[in-house]
Amino acid sequence: MLSVFGSGIGRGIAIGKAYVLRQSDIQTPHYQIDKKDITKEATRLRNAVLDTKSKYKSLLKSLPSSAPKESAAFIDAHMMMLSDPLLIDESIKIIKSEFINAEHALMQQSGNLVKVFEQMQDPYLRAKKTDVEHVTNRLLRSLMGIVSHSLDEFNDEDLKGKIVISKDLTPAETMFVKERKIVSFVTDLGSQISHTAIVARSLKMPAVVGLHGATKYISDDDLLVVDGLRGTILINPSEGVLKEYKQRLSKIRLREKQLSTLTKKTSKTVDGKRIQLMANVETSKELPAVKKSNAAGIGLYRTEYLFMNRSKAPTEQEQFRAYKRIVTAVERPVIIRTLDIGGDKRLDFNYPNKKSSESPLGLRAVRLCLNHVEVFKPQLRAILRASAFGKVSIMIPMISNIDEVDQVLSLIKQTKAELRSENIDYDSRVKVGGMIEVPAAAIMSDILAKKLDFLSIGTNDLIQYTLAIDRVDDAVNYLYDPIHPAVLQLIRLVIKAGNRAQIPVSLCGEMAGNVKYTRLLLALGLRNFSMDANYVLDVKEQIMGVNTDDLKGLAKKVISANSPIEAKERLAVLNGAMRVN
Ligand code: PEP
Ligand code: MG
Repeated sequence: MLSVFGSGIGRGIAIGKAYVLRQSDIQTPHYQIDKKDITKEATRLRNAVLDTKSKYKSLLKSLPSSAPKESAAFIDAHMMMLSDPLLIDESIKIIKSEFINAEHALMQQSGNLVKVFEQMQDPYLRAKKTDVEHVTNRLLRSLMGIVSHSLDEFNDEDLKGKIVISKDLTPAETMFVKERKIVSFVTDLGSQISHTAIVARSLKMPAVVGLHGATKYISDDDLLVVDGLRGTILINPSEGVLKEYKQRLSKIRLREKQLSTLTKKTSKTVDGKRIQLMANVETSKELPAVKKSNAAGIGLYRTEYLFMNRSKAPTEQEQFRAYKRIVTAVERPVIIRTLDIGGDKRLDFNYPNKKSSESPLGLRAVRLCLNHVEVFKPQLRAILRASAFGKVSIMIPMISNIDEVDQVLSLIKQTKAELRSENIDYDSRVKVGGMIEVPAAAIMSDILAKKLDFLSIGTNDLIQYTLAIDRVDDAVNYLYDPIHPAVLQLIRLVIKAGNRAQIPVSLCGEMAGNVKYTRLLLALGLRNFSMDANYVLDVKEQIMGVNTDDLKGLAKKVISANSPIEAKERLAVLNGAMRVN
């Protein structure tokens, strides 16, 4: 038996056979061919077209019923492109005229088409560039016999019951892992705080990421035990070890049963302080877990997932239907966050400033929305329309200055006026809050609090930006530290600003759902938490065992630590796990 370690996700255990997805970093061969080999090269390309077409067909068949209709249209568009003479026939002409291999010719012609599409005025046609790139990639992989790491190329039967081993998985791919009956995944890259990890947690799927190449020790059909809590993977364990893990699995189920007895209990501390526990959701699939947790509502609805795995953005009407579905199903307050695309949350289709948005410091989230009101406006209309069906609030992500808040508030005002003139219902008292994710916003939270109805601390990003580490880069993963004194000082600053302005302050980063930090956050004065629904009862259990009087003075100790290590020691005292001076 061999064990390898990475960053664990979730607290469950998965046992199953490995299915290794090969990496897709394509090094295209470029070489000259003899005249006599022209037909052979052309045939290779035509065969690659047939092979890719049949892969698309099986992909269409295996689409889960819950996949958006757009996903099928997306695949159809790619199949059509495979029959387009501009891509294939022209590539064959290049093979014949330049005596070069099929891959090289295809790359050349694809590059020509990409250039043409890039120059188009019409945004729809410009977006076709991405389709050309997708299709070219698939053809190249077929020509070179490379099995892709992209999950959507594998059929359900191969993946069923398997633990998928991959270099990386995107958040968009992760959305479908459960429907494809995958039991767990293991990746070389990634971190516990990436959106891939967040989606896996919401699906209750144990996984291990950031293995730094250790996946090379795993082969197809190896028997694996993936321990999400400890971040370990056991390769071909003995019968005895397997038995031990099966027992641990039963214990986990028993613990869940015990926790469920807290569902109906009020979330309050021993000294009677009510603490609001809300849920974070990415899609409506998580609603059963939200109901089960009896969360007070949805504190963060990540709308960007509605935009993934499709060929173009959802229309206002489609967004309205999705938001209304959530609002009416939850029957409790719902905070809808406006589009937070960018960073690791990548979309398949082209949109303005896409490249910049994919950098964590780029034109993403509210920046992108304000620079492209044509993208933002339909969403604002859809959210406002959904507000007629329940208690809806709007939340703005990644604010870095007050002007952004002013601009969003003015756009909301303008949108309301338009809806009124069209006789469309909306809730005129919709509250507008802002996420504090950028250190500048935390420092200026007193000013922001004067304009906003509530604040929500997005610690996932706040930690990333405060400590200057990319949250998805496993090389700097070790520096990601929620209790770094600098982070804690910012959190305290925001809570105090909210209290002074008498507006609610919530915390909706992954930290909110980690019981290790519950006492600390209470000690810092936090009274509203929003987290993955699967962790609500764990946090409630902690809260019900705390007397906030006992926490007085302790937060100060952690926050005034000189180093992250000192903060960790002091947190242990706060949690009652050990005693130091
Ligand atoms: C955060 O940054 O803490 C947050 C909740 O938003 P996201 O994880 O979607 O960036
Ligand atoms: Mg964020």
